Amino acid sequence: MGDRWRVAVDRSVCVGSGMCVGAAPDGFRLDSARRSHPVEPEADAAESTLAAAEGCPVEAISITAVGSGEVVFPPEE
Ligand code: SF4
Repeated sequence: MGDRWRVAVDRSVCVGSGMCVGAAPDGFRLDSARRSHPVEPEADAAESTLAAAEGCPVEAISITAVGSGEVVFPPEE
């Protein structure tokens, strides 16, 4: 079985660029206030989700592995 990821968007940081929706259309949605949120708070690990987090211009997206709690993104300093 593949890894599961917990995905979160910090709404106070998100600037509504929509780039995450472009990178992972199944993973993110913009709400009426043009703030992104994950479609599901937990989802199967996916390259597109990681690409969305990496592509966010303000690093509003964080990913944590379910179970181990390991931080997938952002990378630790
Ligand atoms: S890419 Fe980042 S700033 Fe842009 S909508 Fe997604 S979370 Fe918000």
